[in-house]
Amino acid sequence: MTERRMLHAARNAARTAVLDAWAVVMPTDCSGCGTPDRALCAACLCALRAAPRAAYRDDLAVWSALDYSGVVGRVLVAYKDGGRTDAAPALAAALREAVAAALTAAAPADPTQITGGIVLVTVPSSRRAWRVRGFHPVDLLLRRAGLRGRRLLRPSGSVADQVGLGRQQRLDNRSGSLVASRPLAGSRILLVDDIVTTGATLLEAARAIRQAGGEVVGAATVAETRRLHPDTHRSRKSD
Ligand SMILES: [Zn+2]
Repeated sequence: MTERRMLHAARNAARTAVLDAWAVVMPTDCSGCGTPDRALCAACLCALRAAPRAAYRDDLAVWSALDYSGVVGRVLVAYKDGGRTDAAPALAAALREAVAAALTAAAPADPTQITGGIVLVTVPSSRRAWRVRGFHPVDLLLRRAGLRGRRLLRPSGSVADQVGLGRQQRLDNRSGSLVASRPLAGSRILLVDDIVTTGATLLEAARAIRQAGGEVVGAATVAETRRLHPDTHRSRKSD
């Protein structure tokens, strides 16, 4: 064994020992695959590497970093609803890539400033979700990514649970459910959310922003259900 290899092996052994010791203090398993005693294993970290892509929900360009399936789906659910905030750094890195891609598409003239005068706005959690989780998953990811999300939208009434509803039912259910908390004339806004499926939530957020006089330049999410919505991708060149 060469000296370099021995050093590498020793480092790996030390790292494993540290992880094992940590697992005794805080027993856990990989939230992506269940490998014991690891927060996120190397293979699942790899699956969380961002590959930003734009999809459309009506006229709204939504940039998502990841495909919401397999490891990505399990890690996101564990982060949002399983208290697995140890996944926040990896998810935040992915969201940052999606935000950067959306901003580049929206403001190509000003690539030096990451927000370039565009305000990042997150979609509010339902009261129930807030009660259960005690934190806002997207706000936390933006903070981890070194970005600032503003809460310029609030629920305007009660909304039934979206689970089990089809696209049109979701749109009907959400319509009028959000309202801007102040006039937004002159504001350019990028909506930020965790997952886009039918797009009902983001489209309602966009409607509420426009109603208050704001301009919506697009949206960015951590993940998208790409398999379920294969027809929403189109080349930006053909726009
Ligand atoms: Zn794993």
